[in-house]
Amino acid sequence: MSFSLDPGLLALWIAVGIVGGSIAYRAADALLERGAGLPGLSTRCPRCGAPLGPLVTIATLAALFRARCAGCGWWPERAQFAAELLMGALFAIVSLRGGDATARLTDALALLVLLAATLTDLRERLVPDLLTYPAILLWAALSFLPGGVAPESALVGALAGGGTMLAIYALGRALYRRDVFGFGDVKLALFVGIAVGWPRVLGALIGAAFSGGLIAVLLLFAGRGRAGTMPYGPAIALGAAIQLVGP
Ligand SMILES: [Zn+2]
Repeated sequence: MSFSLDPGLLALWIAVGIVGGSIAYRAADALLERGAGLPGLSTRCPRCGAPLGPLVTIATLAALFRARCAGCGWWPERAQFAAELLMGALFAIVSLRGGDATARLTDALALLVLLAATLTDLRERLVPDLLTYPAILLWAALSFLPGGVAPESALVGALAGGGTMLAIYALGRALYRRDVFGFGDVKLALFVGIAVGWPRVLGALIGAAFSGGLIAVLLLFAGRGRAGTMPYGPAIALGAAIQLVGP
């Protein structure tokens, strides 16, 4: 495999990751109706409603240029800054992976959906349909692009990912007469199956099971185990992200 590092191209990938991270972060807010406007694209201050300049909507730029809301001095949460840097770093890793550019771009963009799902699930134990349904349709369409996950691979991945989580969900209902996780997690696993395709979906499911177990143990130690449903979305997202970023 030939490998050449193009600093300009790398910087572009990082920039797209940072801007994408900002949009995904604000989309999660909008989906939970903590903000207003189109998911991720609102340019109004969440505190005072004044229009924000483009610098303030991206936490990385707001930090670099000390930009604030002109109306009330608000600036983005530190968590948004962290999310943007994480996406910039992951986009950089994906860009250096080599191979087909379409495959790398669709993989990297799927990380943004996983970020938004993780945020909404952590905050409200919810993976909104308004996030998963469009993502499922979009990545199903993207699978027809040459070079990426092929349509048949996406279909088998969807059946394996969504099917496995649906089976666990149904088993949990039969055994415990309650939801072991939210149905939004089943739809998220369906999206993951399409986005990573077959056979990467197997690695994603194994990764999700391991990180889900880890989260469950941590919750038990924190004295919050057993009660209610567990935020399984972050575990699914982590398992999938490892597959998307990996070689
Ligand atoms: Zn303001």
